[in-house]
Amino acid sequence: MSTPIDLSTLDAPRIRAAIAAGEFTAREAAQAGLERIEALDGAVHAFNQVTPDLAFAAADRIDALVAGGAGADELPPLAGVPVAFKDNMNLIGTNTTCSSRILENYQSVYDCTAVARMLDAGAVPLGKLNMDEFAFGSSTENSAFGPTHNPWDTDRVPGGSSGGSAAAVSAGMAAITLGSDTGGSIRQPGALCGVVAMKPTYGRVSRYGCVAFASSLDQIGPFSKTVEETALALNAICGKDSMDATSVTRPAEDFTEGLNDGVKGMRIAIVRDMLEMEGVAPEVKASTLAMAEKYAAMGAEVGEVDLPSAQYGLSAYYIIGPAEASSNLARFDGIRYGHRVKDAEDVIDLYMRSRAEGFGPESIRRIMLGTYALSAGYYDAYYGQAQKARTIIIRDFERAFADYDVLLTPTTPTTAFKIGEKSADPLSMYLSDIYTIPVNLAGICGLSIPVGLGADSGLPIGLQLMGTHFAESTILRAARALEADLKFDTTPPVVRNLGA
Ligand code: GLN
Repeated sequence: MSTPIDLSTLDAPRIRAAIAAGEFTAREAAQAGLERIEALDGAVHAFNQVTPDLAFAAADRIDALVAGGAGADELPPLAGVPVAFKDNMNLIGTNTTCSSRILENYQSVYDCTAVARMLDAGAVPLGKLNMDEFAFGSSTENSAFGPTHNPWDTDRVPGGSSGGSAAAVSAGMAAITLGSDTGGSIRQPGALCGVVAMKPTYGRVSRYGCVAFASSLDQIGPFSKTVEETALALNAICGKDSMDATSVTRPAEDFTEGLNDGVKGMRIAIVRDMLEMEGVAPEVKASTLAMAEKYAAMGAEVGEVDLPSAQYGLSAYYIIGPAEASSNLARFDGIRYGHRVKDAEDVIDLYMRSRAEGFGPESIRRIMLGTYALSAGYYDAYYGQAQKARTIIIRDFERAFADYDVLLTPTTPTTAFKIGEKSADPLSMYLSDIYTIPVNLAGICGLSIPVGLGADSGLPIGLQLMGTHFAESTILRAARALEADLKFDTTPPVVRNLGA
C-alpha cells in the first residue's frame, strides 16, 4: 500500500469493499485508525482507552477470511470497519469505567450484547469512549478523566453524555460508534458535533452489559457520518436478547432497504409549540423551518402539530431519571465493584466513604434527588406526578402519530456551548435536552441529522426526526432524503487543520 488510508473519507461500505477487493487489509485500516487517534485525540480526548491488541486481533480475523477467498458477498456486513464504544459498555479486555473514579479499575468480565453484535458483524474495536460520569450530563464535562472537546471548536463541548462517541466519529477516528441515550445522550452530542445519531425505540436494542442509568429510559444506539452507516449499525445491534427482558422480538428488518425511496407522500409535521419554546436560538429555529420547506419541496405532505404536554418532559425526567439512577447506583458500594476505602471503621463507614470518594458531584446530586423523590412522604407528590406527566406525554405523541409519520423539532435549542459555560448552573445544562427527553419518556425512536452550520455561530445544527414505536425505517428514509439533498460536509476544522 503506497498511500496512507484516510478513514475520514471512507464510510463503512467503502472500507468493507476495499478490504474485499484487496485494496488494503483490515489490519492496515485498523493501523490507520490508531494513527489518527494518535494524531488527533490529544486535542479531542474522545478516548478513555485505546485497544490496539483487540483491534488487530479482530482485523486479522477479517484478513484471514479474505486470504481464504471470501469476497464481497461472503464478508460480514461491517468487515474491517473501525468502531469504538461508550465507556459504559462492557468489552472483555477493557476497563469499563463509566468515566467514574469508582469504576476506574473495573475490568469487564463479559461483553455487552450490542458490542458483541458489532464485533460479530466484523467491526474492529479501536477503544472505549469518554462520557459524562454514569451518563449524567449534556457536555461530557462530568467525566472524572477530563472533558472531551468538540472537533468543530476545541474550546467548546461536544455535548453529552456520549460526547466521546460523537467526537470520535466527527474527527474520523472511528467510522461508527455506539452510545447510550436516556434523555438525549446520543442525539444531543450528535447534533453538536455534526454527525448522524440515533436513539432506537425502547426495546429494540438489548442493554445487557451496558451500565444502567434509568432502566425505563435507557437505549443503545449508533453514531456515524452517514445515514446508511447508521442503518447498517442498527442491522447489527437490533433484536431479541434473552439476557435483557425488555428487548423485543420483532421480525428481522434490513434498515438499509428503501433508504433511498424518498419522502413523496410521507406525512411530516413540525412540532410548532416546541419550536416556540423559550431559549431556542433564532438560527436553530430558522434551520428547522427551512428543513420543513425542503421536505415539502421533495413531495412530503408537511403540516404542523402541537405536543402541549412536552413542556412537562424536563420536570418529569428529572424526577424519574434520578429516581431510577439512585436505585441502579446502589450496587456501587465499595464491596462488589470498584473503589474501596482502605481504613474503614465498619461496613457503614466503608459504604459511605467509598461512595463519597468514588462518585463525582453530578452523580451525588442525582442520587440525592432520586432518593428524595422516592422517599415515603414525597412519593406521591413527585414520583407519582412525574409518572402521570409521562402518560400524558405518551398520549400527545399517540395523537400526533395518528396524523403524521415523522415529527420535526430541533435536536438542541442552541449549538455547542463553551467548556465551562454551563457547568456551574445545572438547570441551564438540563435545558439542553428539552427536545430529546420526551422521546425517551414515550419510548419512541428519534434521530438527529446535521443540517448545516448556524448562520450566527458557524457551528453544526441538528434536526430531530421522531417516529412512533418501531418506525426506525421511516425516519431513516426521511433523514436520508435530507442528507442527499443537503450534502452537508461533516469534516470539522480539527481535521482540516491536520491536513488530513
Ligand atoms: N443530559 C441528560 C441527563 O443529564 C440525558 C443524559 C442521557 O441521556 N444519558 O440526564
